[in-house]
Amino acid sequence: MKRMQGVIVFFLIAILATLLFVVRLPDSSQGTINRAQVALPPLSTPKADVVPQSGTNGNTLSQNGEEAGGEHVIEMASEPNPPAVPQEAFYASELEISGDSQETSSGEASTDGWNPPPLAVPLARHPNDHYWFVRPVTSNYDNAGLDWYSYGSDGPSDDFRVHHGIDMSNPIGVEVHAAGDGTVIWAGRGHVNEYESISSYGNCVVIEHDLGYRGKVIYTLYAHLSSTLIQKGDRVEAGQVIGLIGATGQVTGPHVHFEVRIDRNSYYAVRNPDLWIAPYTGSGTIAGYLAYDDGRAASDVEVTVRDIETGDDVLHTWTYASYGVNTDDAWRENFVIPNVPVGRYLVFANYGSDRWAGEINVLEGVTNWVDMELR
Ligand SMILES: [Zn+2]
Repeated sequence: MKRMQGVIVFFLIAILATLLFVVRLPDSSQGTINRAQVALPPLSTPKADVVPQSGTNGNTLSQNGEEAGGEHVIEMASEPNPPAVPQEAFYASELEISGDSQETSSGEASTDGWNPPPLAVPLARHPNDHYWFVRPVTSNYDNAGLDWYSYGSDGPSDDFRVHHGIDMSNPIGVEVHAAGDGTVIWAGRGHVNEYESISSYGNCVVIEHDLGYRGKVIYTLYAHLSSTLIQKGDRVEAGQVIGLIGATGQVTGPHVHFEVRIDRNSYYAVRNPDLWIAPYTGSGTIAGYLAYDDGRAASDVEVTVRDIETGDDVLHTWTYASYGVNTDDAWRENFVIPNVPVGRYLVFANYGSDRWAGEINVLEGVTNWVDMELR
């Protein structure tokens, strides 16, 4: 009998312990649950000119938010491979648009998907500057590039492809505008020309602009659209709607991937778009060149911007990874921090035993070059 009671007590304790464990699980594994919520179903092959359901919440992600299966994705395509952490970060950015989070925009002018109006273009208050393009998304939505995947970056965990453009993360269906006057030379699935064929861009538009730069043709590219609203051969004006934000091609969430290409309409002819779209009212751009003591460019080093008045670290980026992207023809930078509110800043970076720092007084509407001294 005692033996029987012992067995019953044992089972009761076992059941109680199991119940406690199950009840505790949600609290103790919050991160896992969040990840489960953002886990996305496999992507069916994106279909051209199909408008996925529009919406402003994260559900739009599940329409076609996962990266493509891959067999016909060319290696040099510009969008990220699908590591778990950046996928979450993309989701956080998506939430930011609906006003729930500002996780990915600390220190930036962007709040709740709204930004101050950009300065009027063309804008060139410094001889090296060429802020000639309007932003492909209006300031009613998020029209700053994601700071954690800036041009030249390979992502926070070094597991993305080196970024050949900037990403403006917005819900599917938000209008995408031509950056300047020109002629549409590509509108359709992927990006195909004499140099390359890239399917991971999804629905994509390329504009050849009327205005050249130093005798070279300028192109802009808009990728991952849910639909294109113009056709190859069409004339477009700056600000004209050319398509809608989507998540087609190889992406982890809905956004427009925006590239500026100089001289050739090629993946390898890109420049930093943040030196071509005008800063916001009350903001300027910081640019610089981080080099080791032998003069070589310091690659993929995190650069932090500290507000001297408040002592807060407000912005950051990474120097360009050492391959695949170009510096500006005039500036020769290897890092750019856009949309910096006017003020005084300390810019610093550490890599191993190397430490760099420079001070800069950011003026509105210009590229503010910071000399980074190796200490
Ligand atoms: Zn991109």
